[in-house]
Amino acid sequence: MNPLALYAPSALPALPVRIGSLDGLNLDLSALKPRQPGQNGERAIVMFRSRYAPERLPFRRHYWLKSCEGGYTVMYAWNLDKPRTDIPFGKVEGDDLAAIRIVIGNQAADHRMTPIRWELYEDREGEELVAMGRFDAWSLLQGVAESDIHRLAAKGQVPNLERWDYDDIFMDKPCPGCGASMSVNTLAYNIDSARCAKCGKRPFLSPLITGRLERALPSFTRGNSAKQATECVLDIVDYLGFLGADIADVVGELPGGLNPHAALKQLHASSTNAEAPSAGPALARLEARLAGCDQATRMTAMGAAILLRQAVERGRFEEADAAAVNLLRTILRRNAG
Ligand SMILES: [Zn+2]
Repeated sequence: MNPLALYAPSALPALPVRIGSLDGLNLDLSALKPRQPGQNGERAIVMFRSRYAPERLPFRRHYWLKSCEGGYTVMYAWNLDKPRTDIPFGKVEGDDLAAIRIVIGNQAADHRMTPIRWELYEDREGEELVAMGRFDAWSLLQGVAESDIHRLAAKGQVPNLERWDYDDIFMDKPCPGCGASMSVNTLAYNIDSARCAKCGKRPFLSPLITGRLERALPSFTRGNSAKQATECVLDIVDYLGFLGADIADVVGELPGGLNPHAALKQLHASSTNAEAPSAGPALARLEARLAGCDQATRMTAMGAAILLRQAVERGRFEEADAAAVNLLRTILRRNAG
């Protein structure tokens, strides 16, 4: 086979172990919004690894092999000037490089290692480099065969891959609806778009929207609340429309026993702009604000405002609602200018 056919810059090296999806776990893939067009979990990790390639990293961890009976002890020299402070991390039989790599990986489990590369030397002085790389499964398990994994597993040496997320790429949470354990690749996707594949809830969405509602509710503001209410409604409909999400997806408690939908409706009812002189329905206030516009612009803005009101009533948002909000926002801004 032509070796060039194997060259795939958008793919990660093969691993000797089975791993879950690089997009995340228990996700409704059709709802996910990539952070960049055409992005997916694997491509995002490929790009990240090349940006943080080991030779570019500012820090390093120095491991070396100390001979012991039947094999070696993997030592970590954290202060090169003080040999007495070296820390032994685990023994391996013979010079089993696969086992050594697993020891190094498991020792750093749960730590954030993005700026640090690992370097393995035969000697403490660091004259004979054996291997080096990033802290990640693709680098640590490079050259390790599936047969090595089985052989070492029989001795209890297993790469603890669930805790090898050294770059903190995956965000985990149990689904509040059905309890399924969810995770999402934060490099590749807008986390708010992560939807449970089983029950449709969005566990990562709630804090953002409830926080925004809470800040805008009049009882939590000091003056200027009407303007804040308008901005809040426009922002939330814009964002939920972009996600294709329902306000019912937002789980959270608001002051005064309001649920998020009730709060959004209340804010919409009081939304206006700072110049509006009188109380009254939001639409009438909008009309007053558009007094200086030509007829066609006024009709367009009123149409968009009606769509917005219907969407807020429904509590279910689509891209068309986000487009209506942006149209309205543009007209209001231009008119204010
Ligand atoms: Zn669920």
